[in-house]
Amino acid sequence: MARIVFVGGGIVGVSAATMLANDGHDVTVLERDPTPPPPPDTAWDEWDRRGVNQFRQLHFFLARFRTVAEVELPGLTDAMVAAGALRMNPLAGIPDEITGGWRDGDERFEAVTARRPVGESVIAAFAAKTSGLTIRRGVGVAGLLTSVGPDGVVHVNGVRTESGGDITADLVVDSGGRRSSVPAWLREAGSPGPQEMIEDSGFVYYGRHFRSADGSIPPAFGGLLQHYGSVSVLTLPADNGTWGVGVITSSKDSALRGMLDVDCWERVVRSYPFVAHWIDAEPITDVKLMAKIEDRQRTYVVDGLPVATGIVPLGDAWACTNPSLGRGISLGIVHAAALRSLLREVPLDDARAVATRWGELTAEHAEPWFADTLAIDRHRLAEIEAVIAGRQYETDDRIWNLSNALANAVTKDADLLRRFLKVAMVLERNVDVLSSPGVAERAIALADPTPLPGPDRTELLALVAA
Ligand SMILES: Cc1cc2nc3c(=O)[nH]c(=O)nc-3n(C[C@H](O)[C@H](O)[C@H](O)COP(=O)(O)OP(=O)(O)OC[C@H]3O[C@@H](n4cnc5c(N)ncnc54)[C@H](O)[C@@H]3O)c2cc1C
Repeated sequence: MARIVFVGGGIVGVSAATMLANDGHDVTVLERDPTPPPPPDTAWDEWDRRGVNQFRQLHFFLARFRTVAEVELPGLTDAMVAAGALRMNPLAGIPDEITGGWRDGDERFEAVTARRPVGESVIAAFAAKTSGLTIRRGVGVAGLLTSVGPDGVVHVNGVRTESGGDITADLVVDSGGRRSSVPAWLREAGSPGPQEMIEDSGFVYYGRHFRSADGSIPPAFGGLLQHYGSVSVLTLPADNGTWGVGVITSSKDSALRGMLDVDCWERVVRSYPFVAHWIDAEPITDVKLMAKIEDRQRTYVVDGLPVATGIVPLGDAWACTNPSLGRGISLGIVHAAALRSLLREVPLDDARAVATRWGELTAEHAEPWFADTLAIDRHRLAEIEAVIAGRQYETDDRIWNLSNALANAVTKDADLLRRFLKVAMVLERNVDVLSSPGVAERAIALADPTPLPGPDRTELLALVAA
């Protein structure tokens, strides 16, 4: 069995490390942030995680996270629930006239969700009990130990820590998140480095968390993510009677920057009748801003050739997008499960085969979702910018138009509702759902494009300026 070192112990890195240790590998996770994970009930207040900017931003663990975790990390979601995580099936809150009542298979939509620090502290505690897995916190990685193979390709033999120690490994996993330094280190070592696509996603988040007095969660009138012209609103149930409410806008929309002010933010949120009741509770944060969120993808196999061997990128270190669809952790755990398959399939002493096969598995399991998410984000941003400019957004992208029709038909057809939820919960891609016989036609026929109730752009600007 192999010696594997992870650069970064975030939510995806630690999940993957646990899977690999369970397969008998000798796994070490090096995490720069020194604070040991507090128990879940104090994690929100106490866990200092400077390495993860979005640590206290709104997070939701979609059903795909649960389904993968149940297979790959048995017992984890039960541990989350024991710590107060919410088991939530979106169908349960919708009247039977719309859902058509409970059907076999509806259990697949169940999510187990929590605020990020709470979920991550449970994952960390779960991992800490795994034999063969060592998590060293307060140990930053400063560089890679490399050599150059006979084929001229840089091979990674291990890592150098910030305190100067060397740790050798049969495989290094880059789980250092969106801002990972691994590509720069590879270039320093003489590799061309991964091919990188990077751009500002163009969105900005104004989010807050709340808590109810009795542990209940407000009823949902509409989906977790609702689009209102030039803004979108997130209402994300979480653990122990808490939830997050977030307003997403274009980062160019300077007219809405007043929403950093709590009173202004509340005025705006209260103006949306389907959302207003979510903030009639005790706030546990002021308005937290998250901007400069990049879309990024790093490709390690270019024209069939690995840019380096002995190293694989995982989770956000491989690719990340604007998070309004809440897919990052679900896609990360799918990617982690693919890594586990890789190491069952390909012997690590065939470094080139490992690198190439990882490129294939990533392309098969993760990349299509990344591409879908990017396409959705770009359309939505263009739509927001059209609203700001006083125009109607029009595109001939069939998938975007049909996806909107599907979203606008969910209250009219119980089957379409389930198809929509499959996409929302990352269980099936939109292109597959929409190509099922009859779905597109029914969605077009039933779509009700009436906008959700709320202020128009002029009224919104007046609310912010008030
Ligand atoms: C605003 C926002 C909201 C989001 N909401 C959701 C959501 O609702 N649902 C969802 O599924 N996803 C969401 N995401 C995405 C999700 O947060 C990420 O997909 C997830 O954190 C990726 O996990 P990771 O382990 O790959 O990386 P990270 O969680 O970023 O962890 C990387 C770790 O590597 C460590 N590290 C970095 N460099 C080094 C080094 N040199 N040495 C040692 N350690 C190092 C860091 O300290 C950090 O702990 C959101 C993201 C943002 C920005």
